[in-house]
This record gives sequence, C-alpha cells and structure tokens, in this order.
Amino acid sequence: MSNVAFIGLGNMGSGMCANLVKAGHSVKAFDLNPQAIEQAINSGASGAQSIADCVAQAEYVITMLPAGKHVHSVYFDLDGITSHALKSAVLIDCSTIAVSEARDIATQAEALDYVVVDAPVSGGVAAANAGTLTFMVGGSDSAFAQVEGLLGNMGQNIFHAGVSGNGQAAKTANNMLLGISMIATSEAFNLAEKLGLSPEKFFEISSKASGQCWSMTSYCPAPGPVPTSPANNDYTAGFAVAMMLKDLKLAQDAGQSVDAATPLGQQATEIYQDLDNAGLTGKDFSVVMQQIKGEL
Ligand code: NAD
Repeated sequence: MSNVAFIGLGNMGSGMCANLVKAGHSVKAFDLNPQAIEQAINSGASGAQSIADCVAQAEYVITMLPAGKHVHSVYFDLDGITSHALKSAVLIDCSTIAVSEARDIATQAEALDYVVVDAPVSGGVAAANAGTLTFMVGGSDSAFAQVEGLLGNMGQNIFHAGVSGNGQAAKTANNMLLGISMIATSEAFNLAEKLGLSPEKFFEISSKASGQCWSMTSYCPAPGPVPTSPANNDYTAGFAVAMMLKDLKLAQDAGQSVDAATPLGQQATEIYQDLDNAGLTGKDFSVVMQQIKGEL
C-alpha cells in the first residue's frame, strides 16, 4: 500500500479519494475548500494544511482540479507540488485540461526530475463514487507501469494512450464525439416523433439498427426509453452543459492546433454555448433535446 497525496476534492475527487482509502492506501487530502477536506477526513483520509504538508511524504500525487491554469499553479507555484514533493514521487493529473497544457506541464515537471502522467477520466460522478472510471493515460511505458495499479483502485478500464498529452487527446476526441452524438440522437428522436413514432418505438428499432450509439442506449435524451437517463429526471445533471461546453472548446482549440477539420464539433460548441447563454449551464447536457423540440 502507498502514501498518496490527493489535491482537488470536488465532485469527482471526493469519491476517487474515498476509493483509494477503501483500497487500503494512506491518503493525505488537500483542497482550498475546508469542507471538502472535512468530507475526505470522514471517508478515512487525513487532512492536510497546505500543498506542502499534503505532498511531503507522498509516493504518488494525484490532482483533480477544474482546469489547466489550476493544475499549472498547483504544480509550479512557490508553494506548489514541485517545490515540496519527493523527487521519487509520481505525479498523476486526472483533471481535464488542454493537450498542449498537459504536454507543457509534463515537460516542466520532467525537467525537475519527476515522473508525470496525464490521466483524465470518463464516467462522471457516479463512476467516480463507484470506482468504475475509465482512465486515459499519457506518459512513458515505465510511468504507465508505475500508475496502472493505483488507478485500478479508482477505475475499471485503464488505457495507455501513448506519450504525454495523449490521455488528454483521447479524452478531447471522445467527448467531442459524445457532444455531437447527443445532438444527433436528439434530432433523430424529434424527427421520428414528428413523423409519428413514439420514443419507445423508435428506440426499439434504432437501438438494434445502424443508428445505435451510447447517447441513445445508455443516456437517451428523450424521456421514456432508458429509465436511468437524466431526461426522466428533469434533465438534472449528470454531466452538465458547462462541462460539455468546456470539453468542446478544448477540442476546438486542439483541432486548430493540428489543422484537423471539426465542422460538427464547431457546430456542437455553438449549440452548447447557446444552452449556456440561455441559463441552462447546470442542466444535464442531454437537455439539448428540449431545445431541438422547441420547448425552451
Ligand atoms: P469541482 O469543481 O467539483 O472540483 C474541483 C476542486 O478543486 C474543488 O473542490 C476546488 O475547491 C478545488 N481546487 C481548485 N483550485 C485548487 C487549488 N489551487 N488547490 C486545491 N484545490 C483546488 O470539479 P469536478 O467536477 O470534480 O471536476 C474536476 C475535473 O474533472 C475537471 O477538470 C473536469 O473537467 C473533470 N471531469 C469532470 C467530470 C464530471 O462529471 N464532473 C467528468 C469527467 C471529468
């Protein structure tokens, strides 16, 4: 069992931290929000007063922060991780940040002799709590070998995507596909209904035909066919419009940086920006169904 420092105990980090404790690791937890530290203590972690205190003895340092600027500051500020962690510590950033930011952070941390990986996740809060996340890891083969077992305490599928930044590359391409497919699924259900098919009948057919996709069968945006989907709970998130918009913007920036055409990704970004502007920021991203039906 290992000494683990965990920084960023929000919606995702709190459950991930608790699962490391359950697996028997000695976890020291830090967040800017004292209540988040209290919650981590209640789940069996010990609380830290500062980043320095959190990382001092750590063999692994995990960060789960809102965006790239937070990760950069927590890594490299004077009171940050790289000023205080043992050189033998392995640094694992699970936040969703830009591919370019992940590569810059890896270059800077490696120059300071740290082993570092980007390890963004797919699965959301329920999977973070249940320990069933999918991890997409960017880093060297030896770095992946060092983190795979630990990540397995928080997730079900642990993929090595390749060199530093490739974890974020996999995440950004995947979530662009998700954003587009949710809009496409909503359009298809709306069209089918206007042409005379109930959502249940269209689901029965299309889920066994070539239109089948995760947005339909696991997270159907039309109320009815999939009882667990947010559509049956007033589109309560789930995965919020704000999160999808953040991820689509990261995909647009990544696409521009390598001259990859993403016309549907661009349109999806505009559609989620409209939902955000309309005040639906905190609703589940499948609420796009209501916009397409003209109900908003
Ligand atoms: P969150 O806002 O709930 O949690 C972030 C935590 O980081 C907060 O508790 C905040 O106080 C803390 N924090 C911010 N700056 C800090 C600092 N300088 N030092 C210490 N703590 C600091 O966010 P979340 O929903 O847990 O998401 C975290 C990351 O995971 C994001 O990058 C997000 O895009 C990604 N993600 C989220 C989901 C989801 O469904 N929520 C799914 C997949 C990936």
